[in-house]
Order: sequence, then C-alpha cells, then structure tokens
Amino acid sequence: MRADVVVVGAGIVGAACARVLAGAGLAVTVIDRSGAASGTSAQGEGNILVSDKDAGPELALVQRSLRLWDELQAELADELTAAVPAIEYERKGGLVVATTETGAAPLLAFAARQRAAGVDARELDDAVAHVLEPDLAPGVHAAVHYPEDAQVQPVIAAEALLASARSRGARTAYGERVVGALRDGDGRITGVRTDRGEHPAGAVVLAAGPWSGEVATVLGASLPVRPRRGVVLVTTRMPHRVFHKVYDADYVGAVGSDDAALQTSSVIESTAGGTVLVGSSRRQAGFDAALDLDAVREIARKATRVFPFLADAAVMRVYGGFRPFMPDHLPVIGADPRVAGLWHATGHEGAGVGLALGTAELLRDVMTGRPPALDPEPFSPARASLGLGAAA
Ligand SMILES: Cc1cc2nc3c(=O)[nH]c(=O)nc-3n(C[C@H](O)[C@H](O)[C@H](O)COP(=O)(O)OP(=O)(O)OC[C@H]3O[C@@H](n4cnc5c(N)ncnc54)[C@H](O)[C@@H]3O)c2cc1C
Repeated sequence: MRADVVVVGAGIVGAACARVLAGAGLAVTVIDRSGAASGTSAQGEGNILVSDKDAGPELALVQRSLRLWDELQAELADELTAAVPAIEYERKGGLVVATTETGAAPLLAFAARQRAAGVDARELDDAVAHVLEPDLAPGVHAAVHYPEDAQVQPVIAAEALLASARSRGARTAYGERVVGALRDGDGRITGVRTDRGEHPAGAVVLAAGPWSGEVATVLGASLPVRPRRGVVLVTTRMPHRVFHKVYDADYVGAVGSDDAALQTSSVIESTAGGTVLVGSSRRQAGFDAALDLDAVREIARKATRVFPFLADAAVMRVYGGFRPFMPDHLPVIGADPRVAGLWHATGHEGAGVGLALGTAELLRDVMTGRPPALDPEPFSPARASLGLGAAA
C-alpha cells in the first residue's frame, strides 16, 4: 500500500511526527528496525527544559513545545483508552545553582537573556533556594528558579503518540530495517526499501535519532548527526529529599560544548518511586556503550557538591544512550535541499523529548504549506552552518 509519508524511526520524534501528519489527513507509515521507543528515547530522561537554553531558536522551539505538551495531555485523555497509561507529564520546575563563585555571574547573565526572551527565570538568594531545596549544599553563590521546566515519561509518551497516530489511520511496521531508497526517474525518493520489502510513499521523513547519519547515507544523502554518549546514575530508594530538577550551572556549558572528550555535570532529581536520578555525561566515541567508570565517578562527585547527603547514597544501576548530536547544536527539521522527497526531523541531541512536539508541528507545517508557529529557517536542512552540498 502506498503511503503519503513514511516516517523512519518510532522514537519520540518519529511518533510525534506520525501523529500530527496523520492528523493532517495524510496516510502515514512508521517504520522501525525494532519497535516503539526502542532507541535513545528509552535510554535518557524526560526533561523538558527552558532553563538550559539560551535565547534563540532552540529556546523558542521548547517554549512552543511546552504549550503543545500542555495541550497533548488533555487531548490524549480524550483520544485514548485506559489501556494507554498516563504520560506522567508534570511541570515540576527547575533550580539551577552556581556552586562556585566564578559560575555565579554567567548564570545570572544567562537568566537575564532568557527573561528577555519570555522565560520565567527567578533569581533567588541562598536562603530562598534552601526553602525550595532544604538539603542543598550551604552557601550557593547564585540560584535561579525556572517554574516552567517540566518532565514526561518518554517511553509512555512515544507509545501514546503512536497509539494516537494509529487512531488517526497511521500504520506501524516494526522489525524492519530501512536499507535503501526507492526513486523515480528524476532521482526523487518515492519510498524506502527495508530488509523485508518495499514501502512506496510520497515522502520520507528521517527521524532515526543518533542513527540518522547512517540512514541518510543509505538513502543517498549525508547528514552530520553523530552519537554523543550519556549516562545517568540511579540510587536506591530513599525518603524524598529533592523536590525540583536541580542542576549545577556548569551543565549549560556542557550542553553547548563541541568537545568530544568526556564532560560531566550534575542534574539531580527524585522519582515518585523514591530513587534519585543523577545525570549526566557527554562524550563522543561512536556507538561504544561500554560502562565509562570515569563518567560515573565524575557525575557522582559533582552531585555531592550540590547535595552533600548523596555521598551516603548507594547507586543501584547506571544506564545510558546516544544523543543525536548536531555540530551546530540545532535540530534539523524540513526538506533535504539535495534529495527531493526526503525530509528530516532529527539531531535534537539531549533535548529530543522536550522538543518533539514543536518539531513535529513545524515539520507538518512546512510539509503541508501551513503558516508555521515558528520561523523554520534556523532549523532548515539548507542552513549555511550545515553546509550540505549536492547529493552524494
Ligand atoms: C543519558 C541521556 C539523557 C537524556 N535526557 C534527556 C532529557 O532529559 N530530555 C530530553 O528532551 N532529551 C533527553 N535526552 C535526549 C533524547 O533522549 C533524544 O534527543 C531523543 O530520544 C531522540 O529521539 P528520536 O526519536 O530522534 O531518536 P530515537 O529515540 O533514538 O529513535 C530513533 C529510532 O530509529 C530507529 N532506527 C534506526 N535506524 C533504523 C533503520 N535503519 N531502519 C528503521 N529504523 C531505524 C531506531 O530503532 C529508533 O527506535 C537524553 C539522552 C540521553 C542519552
């Protein structure tokens, strides 16, 4: 059966795209070599953060996404049966602290730029920061509270988005690996070939997370998406002592860095079940998933700088995945400038969960010619900073 659109990848981004494209009346097929949320979307956290984004296009995308996450909650409650669990969306709020004197001024300047861009970023003194988080290390040099920061359970959210897409007519094809493109006589992509057959389509959307670079290659295009490894520590259960997403101001520097070497920063929060999640690291070493003890040690050490009581906590497990890193730090959303029929929705690095809904809406708008809610140009695959040349 010929689809209007084939979406490659059933992670959070592919799932969000499938739902809105099906909602626009398009016949959509989602193909994944494994299953729903079987890639990075199951290997990270579900933070939806304004707090770590400087004024600019990525901040605008997450601000739009937050509004869409608010709406999605209510829409899914109407659309889906009780068989699909709640997506655990919560505006928990974030608290960013500078644990060193040198970190204070950059944090406050960053927050001022964010406020000018419409973010609710409230400077707190040490005493008020300790009212929000009583177990915080004494004497933080600066603190900013971000009430808009939210979270969601990414695996449940991806599955719910796909269930909603199916209720709008989308089909899912799991256990099929995309190995090539179908093309017409003009070179336009007219579908994909998988290891199990062919899926003709009017357009192909590449949403294969950190594997998007290699899938782009088999589709006859290049895309500079690279895997950037990250790990998170999970403690054993304990009484609830962390009430927000709390992180060290140096996290923002790690997010925006190009450095391939190990970078760590503290992002700490508790779960409803009583465990504490302590993230995270960033390192570019291909798809090497070996346990990185340097990263674990560094993350743990930095976390105790923020919450000294964590020095007595036991780590129950360590998990991680590969963020889809883009060299210019922006996701790529829109039509490939070289290969007609190929579209991209990928390269969200450590923010793909948070940005998924805004990405999907923007993609739908540029694909269907609707006026977009945001300027699509900064995310365009044709932007100068990517330097994508002619088709390979
Ligand atoms: C440790 C860590 C913490 C993170 N924390 C956060 C966070 O708090 N907030 C946030 O927003 N983001 C976070 N992220 C990043 C986030 O998880 C990713 O940006 C997001 O999951 C990417 O989603 P995706 O749908 O693009 O990719 P994926 O979820 O990886 O989905 C891609 C899919 O493509 C499929 N695929 C690959 N190749 C093929 C092929 N040839 N044929 C068919 N299918 C194929 C895969 O099976 C996979 O299911 C974190 C990441 C890590 C590693």
